[in-house]
Amino acid sequence: MFRPILSAVLAGALLVPTYTLADEVVVYSARNEHLIKPLFDRYTAETGVPIKYITDKAGPLLQRLRAEGKRTPADLLITVDAGNLWHAAESGVLAEVDSAALAANVPANLRDPAGRWFGLSERARTIVYSTERVQPTDLSSYEDLAQPKWKGRLCLRTSKKVYNQSLVATLIARHGETQAEQIVRGWVDNLAAAPFSNDTKAMQAVEAGQCDVTIVNTYYFGRLQKQQPNIKLGLFWANQDSSGTHINVSGAGVTRHAKHPEAARKLLEWLSSEAAQGEFAARNMEFPVNPKVAADEVVSAWGGFKADELNVNEAGRLQSAAIRLMDRAGYR
Ligand code: FE
Repeated sequence: MFRPILSAVLAGALLVPTYTLADEVVVYSARNEHLIKPLFDRYTAETGVPIKYITDKAGPLLQRLRAEGKRTPADLLITVDAGNLWHAAESGVLAEVDSAALAANVPANLRDPAGRWFGLSERARTIVYSTERVQPTDLSSYEDLAQPKWKGRLCLRTSKKVYNQSLVATLIARHGETQAEQIVRGWVDNLAAAPFSNDTKAMQAVEAGQCDVTIVNTYYFGRLQKQQPNIKLGLFWANQDSSGTHINVSGAGVTRHAKHPEAARKLLEWLSSEAAQGEFAARNMEFPVNPKVAADEVVSAWGGFKADELNVNEAGRLQSAAIRLMDRAGYR
């Protein structure tokens, strides 16, 4: 007896177009334009779906999303670092997405357990050393850099950067706050110079002889190596005998108030697919998250390594504890 009603509903539904010309995707991206635009152009060429985007730093983009609330034009937020992704999810601006494609393409430790964001590229934060003054056999782990043998030999980027907050958050997850604080205090004791504003400056200080070791994201090492192929710096995979090297992600989530949530999900699925992953990662000398896709030649040449398997979500959850800990330890 419900059949006529159901038929009427279906007939009505058929009159409503499933998409319109406005079925575009609007993206807010903290990932730089030169890294995402070529992929967006490919997607539009393949699907006909136009993509509008703005780029800005992670903080201002999140503030904007929050301020716009329901009125936001943004369908997809792309940002870097699990700390930032976690923060966006906690602020309620991201929707939960249930997608078999994303679950298959993105390993579980590189996405939000609730499906509010998904890693799209993996970056490793590891040790870079002077090939003139350090033997790789002298190196072992992040923890070891707190030992007195590195006194006056360590350079670090500022603790204000989310990358270091995420690294210290994983130390807390692994060792607890007391031990993590001892490690960070050891780093501070070993500093050869005040913390640097970015990873590249920290590496340049190592090359210049101001210090012997630092901790950086591998793509910054890759960029420097590209500019100066004979640079006297080496990459060392930290914690191979213990937790594995610290990794992080750039990633994305569909916004809670997306006007085109389906189109945004499809774009996100495509970005995680075999078709897009190689280019998405290679443009920034990162690692694809999709296990079916290999890293590009330059990145592969750094050699394989064991990555920390902790869910990168932990970096977000423990971020404020990490900030307080670094402050207590005098890491500026
Ligand atoms: Fe970066």
